[in-house]
Amino acid sequence: MADHHTDKGFAESVEELRTWLDSADKILLGAGAGLSAAAGLSYLDEALFKQFQPEMAALGYHYPYELFQHENDGWPQAREWAYLIRHINFVRYTFPASELYKKLLKLVEGRDFFAVTSNCDRQLMRAGFPMDRVFEAQGSYDRLRCTENCTRETWEIKPHIDKLLPLIDPETFMISDESAIPYCPYCGAPLYTAFRAFEGYKAEQQRFYDWIGTTGGKKLCIVELGVGFNTPAVIRWPFERLAYASGNAHLFRVNKEYREWPGHGGFSEVPEELKGKATPMPYDAGDVIRRLYEALPPERK
Ligand SMILES: [Zn+2]
Repeated sequence: MADHHTDKGFAESVEELRTWLDSADKILLGAGAGLSAAAGLSYLDEALFKQFQPEMAALGYHYPYELFQHENDGWPQAREWAYLIRHINFVRYTFPASELYKKLLKLVEGRDFFAVTSNCDRQLMRAGFPMDRVFEAQGSYDRLRCTENCTRETWEIKPHIDKLLPLIDPETFMISDESAIPYCPYCGAPLYTAFRAFEGYKAEQQRFYDWIGTTGGKKLCIVELGVGFNTPAVIRWPFERLAYASGNAHLFRVNKEYREWPGHGGFSEVPEELKGKATPMPYDAGDVIRRLYEALPPERK
């Protein structure tokens, strides 16, 4: 279990965060799975899973997380696509732009901020974040690539979702007309979500690095929201290094334990080296954002 001996309590640590947000020259936000989960888009939510993947639930799966490594199951393409487009259609297109992300935007609007996300659901964009201040570090669900990497070209997934969704056979949970499944037009290999492998990714990444380069000597407020240990090299570790290296920075690590994932708690703990420069906040990102939002003056809401 996490050692929360440095935990200041909810009200006090949120107040400390509020003070830092108000007085910082620059604000760096990091969004992880825990933030989208707090917004209602949890990959560990059984009820939600039953709702948008009823066939998979009937097959004995409980939540999307179990399926993230299903490649080993050797699914035929007809099943792979039924699952993939159902998942992406729900996460990316059916699930609405969340109120929580919109409130988060209100906290930083008009300020010199940058947001990095490891989520592929495009919630920052859909909530209205200016995309020149966003780095989607894991890319998004929006495009497809050749699984043999024969080309760097990528293709929009949305037309394929629209075409394939009505072709899902609810009995077999396969695409009923296999000729509708897209393959690489050059080499014939299966296609899969492109994530980071798209043209323009490097430029987005560079824009983020350039912004980090402007934080030297500034008062920098770093806020991590629901970032766990799935891909710590994307947000968690770089944020720690930045807090450590910056003379006037503070890291707020907001992350509660996943109740569905016993033994994986303690995500909010901070390393000893950051003592005095970081505040562990073992709370739900939604509770923290709502509390900060409530404290905003009316003209900023
Ligand atoms: Zn190819």
